[in-house]
Amino acid sequence: MTELHRGSCQCGAVRFEIEGEFERFFLCHCSRCRKGSGSSHGAKLFSSTARLTWLSGEDHLRTYRIPAARHQTTFCTNCGAPVPDLRNDGALLMVPAGCLDTPVDFRPLAHIYIASRANWDDHLEDLPAFDERPA
Ligand SMILES: [Zn+2]
Ligand SMILES: [Zn+2]
Repeated sequence: MTELHRGSCQCGAVRFEIEGEFERFFLCHCSRCRKGSGSSHGAKLFSSTARLTWLSGEDHLRTYRIPAARHQTTFCTNCGAPVPDLRNDGALLMVPAGCLDTPVDFRPLAHIYIASRANWDDHLEDLPAFDERPA
């Protein structure tokens, strides 16, 4: 059975569907992913076979390519949230895991670019954890 994933941006203008399976799932700590996510890492799913269909908001999409790097990010121009993009002339689909509204039945395979991680990004699993923001 073909997997069907659905996702959207923060404001809901951009909505999409992905039909097919993801092949790789990486947590990337490189400086570009840290800038792009505003966080410790980018959580990125990749597929060379899944099909991306925009359901709405295609006119809100913009792609920024980092000069002299094989790195790009596509985002909603209304809310700034990253959304999927096609790389290598459409051969590779990259999906920021956080923009999916359907569960991902696939555990990340690895942390990558760990040598570039933020200096505070160390043993974060040891921190206290709360269901919501503590008082
Ligand atoms: Zn949006
Ligand atoms: Zn990266």
